[in-house]
Amino acid sequence: MNAIYQRHVDLPHFMEGVKKRNPHQPEFVQAVQEVAEDIFEFIDDKEEYHEAQILRRIAEPDRVVSFRVCWEDDNGSIRVQRGWRVQNNNAIGPYKGGIRFHAGLNESVLKFLAFEQTFKNALTGLPMGGGKGGSNFNPKGKSVREIMRFCQSFMTELYRHIGADVDVPAGDIGVGAREIGFMFGQYKRITNEFTGVLTGKGLEYGGSMIRPEATGYGAVYFLENMLQHKGEGIEGKRAVISGSGNVATHAAEKIVQLGGKVLTLSDSGGFIHDPDGITQDKIDWIKAHKTRRRGRISDYADEFKGATFHEGETPWRVECDVALPCATQNELLGEDAKALIANGCIAVAEGANMPTDLDGVHAFKEAKIMFAPGKAANAGGVAVSGLEMSQNSERRAWKEDQLQSMLREIMDGIHERCLTYGDRRDGHVDYVKGANIAGFKKVADAMLAFGMV
Ligand code: NDP
Repeated sequence: MNAIYQRHVDLPHFMEGVKKRNPHQPEFVQAVQEVAEDIFEFIDDKEEYHEAQILRRIAEPDRVVSFRVCWEDDNGSIRVQRGWRVQNNNAIGPYKGGIRFHAGLNESVLKFLAFEQTFKNALTGLPMGGGKGGSNFNPKGKSVREIMRFCQSFMTELYRHIGADVDVPAGDIGVGAREIGFMFGQYKRITNEFTGVLTGKGLEYGGSMIRPEATGYGAVYFLENMLQHKGEGIEGKRAVISGSGNVATHAAEKIVQLGGKVLTLSDSGGFIHDPDGITQDKIDWIKAHKTRRRGRISDYADEFKGATFHEGETPWRVECDVALPCATQNELLGEDAKALIANGCIAVAEGANMPTDLDGVHAFKEAKIMFAPGKAANAGGVAVSGLEMSQNSERRAWKEDQLQSMLREIMDGIHERCLTYGDRRDGHVDYVKGANIAGFKKVADAMLAFGMV
């Protein structure tokens, strides 16, 4: 057959098209650019991907659902928010990805997250497609009743778009076990079905052991894999970490368990620097303070002698051996990356999604330091979510030690997959490239198998 098809043009032209089709969506364009930079080279001599227009198709979500969410606050006023579910790609399994509640959330951020999720989920080796959702609802300062009413109202629309074999959401920023409980309760009430439609559930109703720890622990396992590949280890390393939520506190915990020293944590108000090291006791205090008491990280400096709080600043100028950005997107910019490199940082593992901007990624690549992108380093969370889906299908709960070793194995597998396509043979591993190509190839080959659908 002599099909006439258009090869993907060069990267600048391809990106021009992405920008045109997605106006005012800089985060989404940034995420596509980061992947496309590596994929263009990889597919150059592979006509089947060009013929099937795979890159063009993969950069267009299957669908974006946007809806109104009305809820009543404690004063009896009606409030209106916007909800979304981005179903990016289900070539290798049901859509899967978290729900985020954040005042500044918009469609661009969710499309970037769903796009990234597609490759991340492929990298885990588990059968999960990519999706993401959420709302511009701001949970800060809301009462538990208000959060419950919002979650119920959100699910009253979302339920028709999801399902255990269709799309399985989980938590993300602003959505923890409590919010998942409210949403699962409402789903069950509306459908009268008890299915594994959400992950991150409580242990009493189908949740999995080690799901809360999985993302942070997994990121440190990945960091350890990178260091070991170079004959190094975590023991004795000074770590700078941003964030103080689920991912950051568990990453800090695992660094401490493996003999490293954690120097910083942060929140949206600034960062704390503790030269004596943030020990397990101090991490426990932060967990309780941030989640149960809804406190600020600045209070840490009053609680623990020797620590200082740096208002409105990020921790990237503190001297360290390894860095783990675990707060949010675009929190580590080009100048920050240069400061880390100049201060002797040898490895960076992204616990958050796209915390490093494109300038930062390029700086790390040029300096050839070990740099693990979020889609590889933070995949432990969604991996254990995948294991929660398996347990729900089996109607059984697996033991903690079994899950711990499965998480470890999955992170080792992701590291291996990154080496397959990222090993530069000069001793340097380009983990961004390795992760992008390995994730892309699995999804793209599945899409090829389906023909034009
Ligand atoms: P949490 O809501 O538990 O914590 C988020 C943390 O980031 C808080 O400390 C928050 O501070 C801080 N933060 C938020 N916005 C900013 C900002 N603009 N500047 C500085 N700090 C900020 O979320 P998670 O820990 O679950 O998620 C963190 C990141 O990890 C996100 O990118 C998420 O997508 C990603 N991720 C999470 C997974 C999970 O399993 N939870 C899985 C994979 C990725 P404050 O309290 O002031 O808001």
